Amino acid sequence: MSRYPQGSDPTEVIVIGGGIAGIVCALELLEAGRRVLLLDRDEAENFGGLAKESFGGMFFVDTPEQRRAKVADSIDLALEDWRAFAEFEPGDHWPRRWAEYYVHHCTDLGYRWLKQLGVRFFPVPHWVERGLRTRGNSAPRFHLVWGTGQALVRVLAQRLLAHPRRAWLELRFGHRVERLLESDGAVIGCAGQTEREGAEFEARGDCVVIAAGGANGAIERVKANWHRDWGSPPATVLNGSHRYADGRLHDAAGRLGACITHMDRMWNYAAGVHHFRPRKPGHGLSLVPPRSALWLDAHGERILPPLVTGFDTRDLVTQVSTRPGGYSWQLLNRRIALKELAVSGAEFNPSIRDQRWLAFLRDVVLGNRWLYDTLTQNCVDFVRADSIDALAEKMNALAGDAAIDAARLRATVQAYDDAVARGAPWEDEQLRRIEMLRAYRGDRIRTARSQRIVDRRALPLVAIREFVISRKSLGGIQTDLACRVLDAQGAPIGGLYAIGEAAGFGGGGVHGLRALEGTFLGGCVLTGRAAAAAIVKRDA
Ligand SMILES: Cc1cc2nc3c(=O)[nH]c(=O)nc-3n(C[C@H](O)[C@H](O)[C@H](O)COP(=O)(O)OP(=O)(O)OC[C@H]3O[C@@H](n4cnc5c(N)ncnc54)[C@H](O)[C@@H]3O)c2cc1C
Repeated sequence: MSRYPQGSDPTEVIVIGGGIAGIVCALELLEAGRRVLLLDRDEAENFGGLAKESFGGMFFVDTPEQRRAKVADSIDLALEDWRAFAEFEPGDHWPRRWAEYYVHHCTDLGYRWLKQLGVRFFPVPHWVERGLRTRGNSAPRFHLVWGTGQALVRVLAQRLLAHPRRAWLELRFGHRVERLLESDGAVIGCAGQTEREGAEFEARGDCVVIAAGGANGAIERVKANWHRDWGSPPATVLNGSHRYADGRLHDAAGRLGACITHMDRMWNYAAGVHHFRPRKPGHGLSLVPPRSALWLDAHGERILPPLVTGFDTRDLVTQVSTRPGGYSWQLLNRRIALKELAVSGAEFNPSIRDQRWLAFLRDVVLGNRWLYDTLTQNCVDFVRADSIDALAEKMNALAGDAAIDAARLRATVQAYDDAVARGAPWEDEQLRRIEMLRAYRGDRIRTARSQRIVDRRALPLVAIREFVISRKSLGGIQTDLACRVLDAQGAPIGGLYAIGEAAGFGGGGVHGLRALEGTFLGGCVLTGRAAAAAIVKRDA
């Protein structure tokens, strides 16, 4: 129920978007005694946005979990890693400042704050994005929320909805904001239409916070902003973002002079498959690409140097997109799949999502049979067979061409299997990388010891057709450290703030070219808190 039914008492702060960034900001504003109107295009049941679907990994530095795992980490080390991986450009003033802010404050303002609210983390941090041609994470920093992003959103949303000042918060779902209202050079509200009835609405307040997410849910826009390093966009780019992440609010802010920057910076993934229960057009699932699988191009040629996940996600996307066909295959067997097959996000990690330790341990020890069966039986991009020849035939049938030559494929697999059989010291780069990954406990449990592909005890053979899947906008609306939206001259636009993915997770592109992972949810929490603090300070 609105506390201001007559509309006579204007809201102090309007937050557009009820994803994690908007929820955090609204919570902090209530905490500070501000009245908030939160508008979201989606239904109430989707409150929480993408974070609710997310895996829930968060980048923190020098935590108790790291120390218990005997991982040495420091702010200086993390900042050096971030800068190297980001490859910032000379003009990237605010992205750099936001990167420094993130690394310095993520543990205090993110990790400790969330823990104190009741969020729990998996005891062993994951080691992702170690770097390939550029330096990446020198240490494991990906702290998985026990319960995935669903638990993260549940804790935050419960805090918000049960807040002692709950009456000062008005939530309006099904409200699509189309434009920002301006008076005397400052933003004083927004306007749009309701999703169901198409009724016009207007809302006015002292200031407006854009928390409407990125633009990677609009695939035509993703293709139009395709980075030059990736050649031409592939015909099929799957959608792994929010169905309302269409950049509408970027455009609205741009019309008021906001600097919209780095939109060709995106965090897409190379191993997308079609969702078999799609909730939006082109809905894709992002596989964690099995490391012991052979990664082949659309013609069945092994991609060399071999692609192995865990080092540089952007490089995987570059390698796949710049090859003919614009999609790839991963070739493996059932045993490898049971150990390594995984999907990013809450939906296909039920044991972690539902906080069931025993089921989680069973999957680690015995293999994830449920996931293997679910994907191989339902997903159109999986084919299985007991011989390479039969598999090649099915791959060609799926692709609708004759691109795979069975004899060549047999020879490719044989060469790799021979290298496995010869044992260490490994002459194949993929096997060396697997050994490197397995040296860390967190990776050992989900990476098979060097495995032959053709092994009659591990049949059937499995081929997975994989497409690039769009996920996060790394660029966005440029902001300063107070999350104020800046114009092309670097001056703040009065009354306008941007947070979360809409703001490129801070500064219009805190990640530069590459993300160390877990920095998206973290960036939403930090920008949401920073905007609220700045608004409160401004009013003081
Ligand atoms: C499967 C999956 C796994 C992920 N795993 C991780 C992970 O492990 N670690 C990590 O750091 N990140 C992860 N992410 C990314 C992370 O979840 C997102 O980057 C983050 O949640 C974005 O939050 P946000 O609040 O900025 O935007 P969103 O969650 O996109 O929320 C924006 C909200 O704004 C609303 N909206 C949009 N347009 C309008 C409009 N015009 N008017 C009104 N409302 C509007 C939308 O309905 C939505 O509710 C993952 C994402 C996915 C999909």
